[in-house]
Amino acid sequence: MERTIVHCDLDTFFVSVERLINSDLIGKPVLIGGSSDRGVVASCSYEARKYGIHSAMPMRLARQLCPEAVLVRGDHDLYSKYSDIVTEIIEDKIPVVEKASIDEHYLDMTGMDRFFGSWQLTQELRKTIIKETGLPISFGFSKNKTVSKIATGEAKPCGERKIDEGTERNFLAPLSIRKIPGIGEKTYPLLRNMGISQILTLQQMDVITMRKVLGENGVSIWNKANGIDNNAVIPFSQQKSMSKETTFEQDTIDMDILRRTMLSMVDELAFDLRRDGRLTSCVTVKLRYSNFDTHTMQTKLPFTSSERVISEKVMQLFEKLYSRRMLIRLIGVKFSNLIAGGYQADLFNDTLEDIRLSEAMDRIRIRYGHDSVLRGFALPNL
Ligand SMILES: [Mg+2]
Repeated sequence: MERTIVHCDLDTFFVSVERLINSDLIGKPVLIGGSSDRGVVASCSYEARKYGIHSAMPMRLARQLCPEAVLVRGDHDLYSKYSDIVTEIIEDKIPVVEKASIDEHYLDMTGMDRFFGSWQLTQELRKTIIKETGLPISFGFSKNKTVSKIATGEAKPCGERKIDEGTERNFLAPLSIRKIPGIGEKTYPLLRNMGISQILTLQQMDVITMRKVLGENGVSIWNKANGIDNNAVIPFSQQKSMSKETTFEQDTIDMDILRRTMLSMVDELAFDLRRDGRLTSCVTVKLRYSNFDTHTMQTKLPFTSSERVISEKVMQLFEKLYSRRMLIRLIGVKFSNLIAGGYQADLFNDTLEDIRLSEAMDRIRIRYGHDSVLRGFALPNL
């Protein structure tokens, strides 16, 4: 059976939220990010993009390109709150919803045709979100996730685009290969060097050549270029969480050991998140006493993959949970409510040095294994 999949994406989400709070920002070039010269741009308005500014650019450079831009320090909690409001509105109306990132959702509307026209329902939903939140949002509508996501991009700013069944390849053909999700900093220059700039060219190539040049990623790109994507829409509740547990050889009450163990587990899990390009918004701490009494406690947090942000929450939970000062046998940490997203979401709190340190550590770990490089806290006291 053919499916009906909708993708929606809030337009310049962080900027739009700031404009709800402060209408003076409307129509102006706005930069969101750390205010220090060593910070980076986490997000910027369309007006700022005209100056060549983009996210992840050093703030110092962005301010040189557009000195009149208004600089706003990002507010993580606020963005997560608005993100949740949008999710609630959608989940209220659509049964199968995947929150793909802080400002993106996929909706599986297959079979809803019988009761409602699903395109009409999509248009109404978009109006409802705009009316109830005041945030601009764009929608793409097609038979799969990839085509719908690309359609959303074409509908921006604040529009909607429906790709009728059978017209997917025609819709994609004239677009730049850059529009294909998954073609990024590495693959784009590679394909450009091969003289490929339009999706049409990819459509005309055969899949065997693509596999030869780019391996399995080449096959995936070829499929997307041809409008083929069988990936399902996966709600939070069906997604895997990620967790780690440590059972001590000897039950312990040593706060230093407990703290270091927790932080190492968080460090490893946060690395896994970043490697997979994901963010978490819910952490759980588990604690088992020597008498096997087991307690867990969880808390929500703004979407993140930063071990610094997560560690803070985890240590707070642990301190609340560890009330009995008894010997501990096991501790564990779990991340759930996972969405796709890059490190970008933490940019306003971090300096360029922090980000580069993290990225450099991650690259070493991807090559040589997690323990090849450790942060200071993970080392034993000498
Ligand atoms: Mg967006």
